[in-house]
Amino acid sequence: MILLQGKGVSKGVTSGPVYFFRRSDATVVKRDVTDLEAEKARLAEAQEKSIEQLNRLADKCREDAGEEAAILFETHAMFVEDEDYVECVMDTLESESCNAEFAVQTAGEQFAAMFAAMDDAYMRARAADIKDVTGRIINNLLGVVEGGIDSDVPVVLAADDLAPSETLQLDKSKILGFMTQGGSGNSHTAILARTMGIPAICGLGDSLRPEMEGRIAYIDGETGKVALDPDEITLASFQAKLKKQQEMKVLMETMKGKEDVTLDGREMMVYCNIGSPEDVSAVLANDGQGIGLFRSEFLYLKASDYPTEEEQFQAYKAVAAAMEGKRVVIRTLDIGADKQVAYFDMKKEENPALGVRAIRICLNRPEVFRTQLRALYRASAYGKVAVMFPMITSVWEVRECKRACQKVMAELDKEGIPYNKDTEIGIMIETPASVFVADALAKEVDFFSVGTNDLTQYTLACDRQANDLGKFFDPHHPAVLRALKMATDAAHKEGIWIGICGELGADLSLLDTFLAIGIDELSVSPSSVLPLRARIRQSIAKTATLEKLES
Ligand code: PEP
Ligand code: MG
Repeated sequence: MILLQGKGVSKGVTSGPVYFFRRSDATVVKRDVTDLEAEKARLAEAQEKSIEQLNRLADKCREDAGEEAAILFETHAMFVEDEDYVECVMDTLESESCNAEFAVQTAGEQFAAMFAAMDDAYMRARAADIKDVTGRIINNLLGVVEGGIDSDVPVVLAADDLAPSETLQLDKSKILGFMTQGGSGNSHTAILARTMGIPAICGLGDSLRPEMEGRIAYIDGETGKVALDPDEITLASFQAKLKKQQEMKVLMETMKGKEDVTLDGREMMVYCNIGSPEDVSAVLANDGQGIGLFRSEFLYLKASDYPTEEEQFQAYKAVAAAMEGKRVVIRTLDIGADKQVAYFDMKKEENPALGVRAIRICLNRPEVFRTQLRALYRASAYGKVAVMFPMITSVWEVRECKRACQKVMAELDKEGIPYNKDTEIGIMIETPASVFVADALAKEVDFFSVGTNDLTQYTLACDRQANDLGKFFDPHHPAVLRALKMATDAAHKEGIWIGICGELGADLSLLDTFLAIGIDELSVSPSSVLPLRARIRQSIAKTATLEKLES
């Protein structure tokens, strides 16, 4: 038996074979070949496989994201067989007597450069499509697995670390749990694991080794313990915990349909955090009363080019409609820092968490912002959509955001497109600056939602991505809790509601403090809804104290 200790970042016990994540950053090396016919046959096979994959993706998109997204993949499939492109590949193959992957890479580079040099912005953007298709054919030639997992059975996925975009591409039906060498509990990958309800452990360091592949791992996402091929005693303790987990699940079922009200009648809205339209099923299954944070940037992270207005509209509309009139707070694009999107072509920054991220990008790129706002307002006709802006520090930013909303509403009016004129506008309180000017900000908007992940990072000057800050990264720090109280007082003075959508919202040990502060809403991962409801229903709001703000 081998025991490893990491940091539990998504609760739950699970077991399964260890599988190491395969990255698809295949490097192409030029080889001289003598049998050109064999190379051409390999190429034909890879093209056929690419077309099959792209058509499957198109079908999936048609169901999940609508016609426009599906057409993109169908166009990619057609490009695989494009006459000029294939001729260029063949020319290189024959003139250089080289391997197929090198010929494909050469042709892809030539075509991408040709499109990138065009005057028309639309045609220039096609260079990214060509790179995508070329990468796919090369991966198929090299046998690199799409989605990182080539296993018939579900696995415990191991990796050095996973970027949010990599996590999003994974086939979730094949993942029992995650364990990574690096990472931190506040990284977006950990947040995604919690949203998906998959146990996860990070920070295992060098003790997690590739030669462990195939061994059976038992992982506990609460304690951060991993046991490989456990002995009888360890196995019994894992199994006991698993049994308890199942019993708890049954017990929690009894919470469905019940109100989120304390024993003395104080209501708390319990909403969910999601990252994609597919997560709505987990919200409904766990009886979430609304969506307090839809991280819309994950739509951008999944894509290989800017998602169009129509693609976004379909995604937001699907969520709004599925929630049947319950509030759906959609946060506008929050990329930058650990959420990097290649096609945004952002400058490299020394301190990306303090750089051009989130609302700063939208205010700098009005066209990107306008496209998203149009999609959001159009979706508001299909449910109770609220729009929320991230990383706000100043009143002028909020006013600019509101001006952008008004412009979009005027456009939709002119075009006769329906939308809800009373769509709520809110902001995230996740910078100390926003706390200090919360009184002025509260006059501008309909609600606040506190992003405690970033608020902790910026208040305590602790990088949320770092996994070695240990006790210095302390979301229970009185400075963070006092910031919550200041923002809440400012919100209530102006008669608006305030919630928490950062990970702290699910921390049951702080529920009394949140009640004492006066928080109105907690937005948590879907699997945290029922345990939170159970705790709210046992609490007494009027005896809750602010003592944790003192020390
Ligand atoms: C936060 O900062 O707490 C938050 C909810 O936003 P994100 O984690 O996506 O930065
Ligand atoms: Mg944040």
